[in-house]
Amino acid sequence: MTAIDTKLELDGDTYKTLLESTRAIPWKIDWSTMQFAYIGPQIEELLGWAPESWQTVQDWADRIHIEDRDWAVNFCVAQSKAGVDHEADYRAIKKNGEYVWIRDVVHVVRKDNGEVDSLVGFMFDISERKRTEEQLAALRRELEELSFKDGLTGVANRRRFDTVMETEWSNACRSKQPISLLMLDIDCFKQYNDHYGHLEGDQCLKRVAKLVSLAAMRPRDFAARFGGEEFILLLPDTNESGAYKIASRCRDLIAGEHIPHEGSDVSKYLTVSIGLCTATPDCGDEVRAFIEMADRRMYQAKQRGKNTITND
Ligand code: GH3
Ligand code: MG
Ligand code: MG
Repeated sequence: MTAIDTKLELDGDTYKTLLESTRAIPWKIDWSTMQFAYIGPQIEELLGWAPESWQTVQDWADRIHIEDRDWAVNFCVAQSKAGVDHEADYRAIKKNGEYVWIRDVVHVVRKDNGEVDSLVGFMFDISERKRTEEQLAALRRELEELSFKDGLTGVANRRRFDTVMETEWSNACRSKQPISLLMLDIDCFKQYNDHYGHLEGDQCLKRVAKLVSLAAMRPRDFAARFGGEEFILLLPDTNESGAYKIASRCRDLIAGEHIPHEGSDVSKYLTVSIGLCTATPDCGDEVRAFIEMADRRMYQAKQRGKNTITND
């Protein structure tokens, strides 16, 4: 068999048929007049605008979403002037007012003398891809949020607390403002579980988490589950007397719920012990020592008979 050495070539009609049967929409703009020399008829099916209505570059610019228009036009014009092939994603306005995400892929055609002759390109409908990207981004945000939340109670988890604590500690160092921390521990919670069952115990933890969050008054006050039946309330820019008020509010809110606790050594209702500490840290002071102090004071409260607040 003899090798085929003839060069394959397509005539103009075949080229046109091929171009007009793709899903991508071909177009050509004459650089000297800034007029469309050609746009594929598929544009009408995608956007509703007939090919004849694409006359000038202004027609193209006018049919770009107002939020994307400036950057898309500026970017494409700058790249074209520089003679650089490029692509731009933007929302095109349909005739019926809806939007379609388009990826415009542009090739700069030059004359023999190097000057720009025309721009040719393809518009691709990338709406489906954009929708998937948006769904993925929303999922990522949701996952990130979940990774900072305690699964049972919905308040911030320990991991989140560690980050916020570090940030607020640095803020307090810089601003020389006091910062306070409340460490709360439910009294006799083991007996609660033993008496009412673990699932009831879980419900109780949810209620307490909500009440601790309610006690937080300012936007930067921060409630978290520290672990097991322990919660934390971080109070930036709060001195000791302010923090004591919040601790009392917390204790009152929980006591006021009258959550029955038959197994408790200290009350018929659920109670908490609270350790409170306040500092105006110097740079270099350890945040860890501050948290340990709140913890020690919470245990002091236990030693002093539970259902109490300790700040020394
Ligand atoms: P104290 O008054 O000294 O604080 O005693 P306590 O019984 O509250 O403390 P202890 O540390 O002995 O027990 C804490 C209990 O909290 C034991 C554990 O099973 C329970 N607990 C921890 N996490 C959960 C949870 O997610 N759900 C339930 N239902 N119970 C939990
Ligand atoms: Mg405990
Ligand atoms: Mg306890």
